[in-house]
Amino acid sequence: MRYISTRGGMPPASFSDILLGGLAPDGGLVVPESYPQISTDMLLAWRSLSYPELAFEIVRLFATDIPEADLRGIIQRTYTADVFGSADITPLRTLRAGLHILELSNGPTLAFKDMAMQLLGNLFEYVLGKRNETVNIVGATSGDTGSAAEYAMRGKRGVNVFMLSPHGKMSAFQRAQMYSLQDANIFNIAVQGMFDDAQDMVKAVNNDAAFKARYKIGAVNSINWGRVIAQVVYYFKGYFAATRSNDEQVNFVVPSGNFGNVCAGHIARQMGLPIKRLVVATNENDVLDEFFRTGVYRVRGAAQPTSSPSMDISKASNLERFVFDLVGRDSTKLAALWQQVDQQGGFDLSATSCFGELATTYGFTSGRSTHADRLATIQQVKQQFGVVIDPHTADGMKLALAQPDSAVQTVVLETALPIKFEDTILEAIGERPARPAFADGMEGLPQRVDVMAVDVEALKHYIAERIA
Ligand SMILES: *Cc1c(COP(=O)(O)O)cnc(C)c1O
Repeated sequence: MRYISTRGGMPPASFSDILLGGLAPDGGLVVPESYPQISTDMLLAWRSLSYPELAFEIVRLFATDIPEADLRGIIQRTYTADVFGSADITPLRTLRAGLHILELSNGPTLAFKDMAMQLLGNLFEYVLGKRNETVNIVGATSGDTGSAAEYAMRGKRGVNVFMLSPHGKMSAFQRAQMYSLQDANIFNIAVQGMFDDAQDMVKAVNNDAAFKARYKIGAVNSINWGRVIAQVVYYFKGYFAATRSNDEQVNFVVPSGNFGNVCAGHIARQMGLPIKRLVVATNENDVLDEFFRTGVYRVRGAAQPTSSPSMDISKASNLERFVFDLVGRDSTKLAALWQQVDQQGGFDLSATSCFGELATTYGFTSGRSTHADRLATIQQVKQQFGVVIDPHTADGMKLALAQPDSAVQTVVLETALPIKFEDTILEAIGERPARPAFADGMEGLPQRVDVMAVDVEALKHYIAERIA
C-alpha cells in the first residue's frame, strides 16, 4: 500500500514514511492510493475476532511495510484490558432495541482520542527505533488532544512532547490529568494567553524551517494518517457488536469537529462494511452540518466557544480526504476547490452532481445541536435509560433519537466520559457524574508545568535547552 497527496504533488510513499509527517509537501492530505476491499469471507471471519486481532487484520492492510510479527506485537501491547478497562476495549451499551452507544472513552484520558493515540505512540516508538531517529512533538491543546498525546507518548524512546495549554483556562480535572505526569520526556507549558496564542506560537515554531529541521519538530494533530487508520477498527467492532449477521446494516452517529472520527467511518464503508448512514453531528459550530445539508463549505472566522468544546472548530481539516473521493479522486479538481477555500473562504458544490452523491453514494446525513439541546438530551437519556452521557455524545444522541429507521441498528459513538465536563452535567441533571476510581484525588497530585509568556523566542529557547 502506497500513499499519495490529495493535491497530487507527492511521489508515492510508504506507511512508515508518512507516519511521522503532517501535511503532504504540497499542502494536501495524505491518502492511500486505493482502499482495500473486504470480501464476504473476510467479514465473516472477522466477526469473531477480539479487538486486537481485528485491529491487526485491518491495520496490516494499510501498514504493509511493517513486518507482520512486529505489527502484531505493537497492536497486542496497545489494546489491553489494563489500558482500556475491559477485554472488550469498546463495549457496546444497548439503550433500547435498535439504539446503542459504542463506548470509546475508557482509555487513560477518558476520551475517544486515546483509541488512536495509544496506537500512534507505539508505532512512533517502533518506526523511530528502526530508523535510529528522534522526534520532538510540539503542540497546543485546550483539552482532549494534548492529554491523549501525552499519555500515549510518555516514556517512549525517541519522543519528547512539548505541549502548550492556556494558563488557567482548562478545568481542574484537565489540568491535573496533564500536569501530574512526571515522565522526563513530557513538558507542559502553560502559556499566559488564550488557546489561539498557544496555537500561534506552535505555528511560528513550525514556520522556522531551520529550527524545525535542526530540532526535528513534529506533530500528532488530527490529520495524522495513523490516527485515522486506528479509528477504522472500531467501526468494524461496533458493527459486529450491534448485528447478528453480516446481512444487516448499521447507522453510525458521530459527534464531529475536525472530521477525523467520521472520516474513518467513511473509509470503513468504502472498504465494504455494511454501513447504511453516517450521521455527522455538530454543535453550534456547524461548518459540517451546513456542508452536508447544502453542499456549501464555508470556513468561519473563529470558532464559537460551546459546552461541547472539543467540537469547536472553524474549519474541518480532514474533510479534504472525503472530498477527494467525492470528486472522483481527481487531484486537479480537489486542488482547485482548496484554492477557493484559501482565496474565498469556501466552495459551493450545490449545483454539481457531487451534491446528490453525499447522501446516495456516500450515505451521509447531518444535524446540529445547541446548548439547550445538549442539556435536554442529557436529561432525557438519564430519565429514559438511566445513563449519563457527556455533552459531545449528547450532540450525537439528539440526532439518533430522531432517526426514523428503526429496522436499522443505530450506534452512537461515545467520544468522552461525563466526568470531564462536570459543570454541564450538573447544569443538565443537578448532580455530578460518577468519578472513576483512578481519578480520585488526582487534583491533589504534584504538578509539573512551566508558565511562559506569549513569546516565540522563549519557546524556542525552552525546547533547544531541553533536547540539546
Ligand atoms: C476530538 C473530539 C471530537 C471531534 O472529533 P473529530 O475527529 O475532530 O471530528 C468529539 N468529541 C470529543 C470528546 C473529542 O475529544
